[in-house]
Amino acid sequence: MKFRFPLKQHVGGPCVPIVKVDDEVKRGQKIAEPNGLGANIHSSVNGKVQSVTESEIIILGDKNQSKDFLPIDETDDALDAIAEAGIVGAGGAGFPTHVKLKTKIPGGYAIVNATECEPILGHNIHYLEENTEKIISGLKIIMDITEAEHGIVAIKPKHKEAISKLKAAIGDDNIEIKYLPDLYPAGDERVIVRELLGVELKPGQLPGEANAVIQNLETTKNIALAVEDRKPVIDKDVTIGGRVKGAQEGKTIMDVPIGYPVKELIEEAGGYLEPHGEIVLGGPFTGKHGKEDTPVTKTLGGILIAMPFPQDKRKFGILACECGAQENRLKEIVEAMGGNVVAEEKCKRMVDVNGRYRCELPGICPGQASTVLSLKKKGAEVILTGSCGD
Ligand code: SF4
Repeated sequence: MKFRFPLKQHVGGPCVPIVKVDDEVKRGQKIAEPNGLGANIHSSVNGKVQSVTESEIIILGDKNQSKDFLPIDETDDALDAIAEAGIVGAGGAGFPTHVKLKTKIPGGYAIVNATECEPILGHNIHYLEENTEKIISGLKIIMDITEAEHGIVAIKPKHKEAISKLKAAIGDDNIEIKYLPDLYPAGDERVIVRELLGVELKPGQLPGEANAVIQNLETTKNIALAVEDRKPVIDKDVTIGGRVKGAQEGKTIMDVPIGYPVKELIEEAGGYLEPHGEIVLGGPFTGKHGKEDTPVTKTLGGILIAMPFPQDKRKFGILACECGAQENRLKEIVEAMGGNVVAEEKCKRMVDVNGRYRCELPGICPGQASTVLSLKKKGAEVILTGSCGD
């Protein structure tokens, strides 16, 4: 089987390949390095390099694979191990973790984001329930690196099993569980800082301004694996759901080798439930259109199969939100429905920060009556909204 490794699975430029066609590679072997901001990429399989392009490396996997891997070089420096392992924000952002953790926050707050706030997704909580100690280890490593005095696991109260396991596993006075409301986007970094630390970050400000660092749960897992087990990022936890037989409500699949084609996972989960529509990569709010041959990457969390798009040829107005579908995605959906976009608006809380629109108060969503009226005035007969409040 072919495994595809995109050279850009992170914030920053594409990595530079360090293997060539016909090279034999081992699972865990480094195959590409960053040129500037980025993160190492490792093969998730034993096999032979079939092609190397500017955008990806394709490896033909051997028939028999194993879970064993080549460990990263031994080091006493946790930050070096994290860099060598190629860890990036696994929740979708893909920011290189060794860069994020360079900032010291003495006396501050290291927060594990266990909110998993997009609907259907469940792989983070699944991992937490089964590997609670590993997440606490990862949090302690983050606290050591950043000199944070307080550790927090941020979670929604509904995850009772995970919470009771956390309570049993936390043996440290400096680590506590804190709760977030069961709403989207509770996992937004600014919402977490506001709800847990009482600090209102302005659009564009980072948690460091509140003396805090936030890591997604799977990123924390990868930190513990890199430092304690010398494992590079070669596997990914995902949730499959939607129009998939037996998995409509979401089914978690753990430790999928990176590079594995999405189509194989859909088949393994039970196959399509007919009728079905597009493949959505990510959660229902922020997911993007995907294809069957799209590979699993370091940041892919959800593989959701949608209903076929209803057909509607009316004139559409679109309403974008920072935390949900934005203009391009909304236009893509309207096109797939056979409609025509005649008017565009943003949620009224969106403000321009250095050329990028950001929400002023994520999760405290206003009514959209004025934007709806404006869309109607511009000729919209029907409105498609990506705003999470409506
Ligand atoms: S206030 Fe607007 S932009 Fe912000 S999260 Fe709510 S709907 Fe989205």
